[in-house]
Amino acid sequence: MITADILIRNADLVATCAGPGPRGGGDQKNISAIARGSVAGSNGRIVFVGAASACEDAVTLAPGATVIDGRGRTVVPGFVDPHTHLVFAGDRRDELRRRLGGATYAQIAADGGGILRTVTDTRAASEADLVTAALPRLAEMLAFGTTTAEVKSGYGLELDAELRMLRAIRTLGSAQPIELTATFMGAHEVPAEYRGRRGEYAQAVIEEMIPAVAREQLAEWCDVFCEDGVFTPDESRAILEAGKRHGLKARIHADELGSSGGAGVAADVGAHSADHLIFVDEPHARRMRDAGVVATLLPAAAFFLKLGRFAPARMLIDQEVPVALATDINPGGGFTTSMPFVMALACFGMNMTLEEALVGATLNAAASIDRTDSIGSLEVGKQFDAVVVGGGLSDLIRVGGPVISHVVKRGRLEFTL
Ligand SMILES: [Zn+2]
Repeated sequence: MITADILIRNADLVATCAGPGPRGGGDQKNISAIARGSVAGSNGRIVFVGAASACEDAVTLAPGATVIDGRGRTVVPGFVDPHTHLVFAGDRRDELRRRLGGATYAQIAADGGGILRTVTDTRAASEADLVTAALPRLAEMLAFGTTTAEVKSGYGLELDAELRMLRAIRTLGSAQPIELTATFMGAHEVPAEYRGRRGEYAQAVIEEMIPAVAREQLAEWCDVFCEDGVFTPDESRAILEAGKRHGLKARIHADELGSSGGAGVAADVGAHSADHLIFVDEPHARRMRDAGVVATLLPAAAFFLKLGRFAPARMLIDQEVPVALATDINPGGGFTTSMPFVMALACFGMNMTLEEALVGATLNAAASIDRTDSIGSLEVGKQFDAVVVGGGLSDLIRVGGPVISHVVKRGRLEFTL
């Protein structure tokens, strides 16, 4: 007999999304579902996944165990959000109003808005201010089923403020249930004091910031915004290679606003993930596939920025690139904390199937942050991170409804509707 301290019993469906991951091409739609299933855990790990009837024979409950009735419900892995900018100071919701009135991002930036406005506010904030501002965002994410998230720096754009952001991320990781992985993104934008001297700023990122971040072991990842007018492919490559020399794994903002060469840089440096990819083409998709790069797509950003188009998810899947999904939570165009909303946009904006979107939000998202050995699917031995949907699988993308009834992180019931 297996002893469990938590059990989700007799669910209508358990979508395990079992690995190995990531899943690309025709495999992306395989969610390894079990009808009438149960999931049991002990000490934060999964000890049983399978038919409810087999669970009754195999699993005994420890005194005081948590039991969730799965009847009429669906169980999926906890969502992994592999691209967020959820630590920042200030408030730019007025810019959303301006965009609704027809203003473009360029017009708003020219009036002192945009990312550099968040940089001014973030530089003025203490580490404690940043933590306090981010906690409600993380509480929202948890209620939407996110159990692990990547978080970037990149609103400091100077050494001390970047380190302060990364320390805030570290503090947040132990202050609430969602597990966080930190990304250093000093190359998010060129700060105003370096205007016209972009190359010098890139050198400061390489020679000053990356070594300091690595010395304090504040980040697992290094990211760069490779785009016309931000960082060139050569600068992006140099920054990501410098990060790798200091033990920071590579990820990249690529081809969001044009065909800027970011997907090629991702393949060149062996990035785990290339993100956005609205303008990626087939040859670059094949290079990503051959280099083992996950495509992390952020349709909510395209939606809120009114870009008028989404990343070519179907082409990427046809080219067997594993597709992951993320929210891109940020103060400008990232006005959602909801992975289910992102999944809905993946289905209705990018023509992914519900099953492909689910794998994109779980197993492939775990691959995007190099965590397939511990999270992203419901398998014995992995962390018990699970979401219970109050209905069928398709209820998950019933946007606006309170569809998530329970969220389990490391075997603890952390959210109940
Ligand atoms: Zn981003």
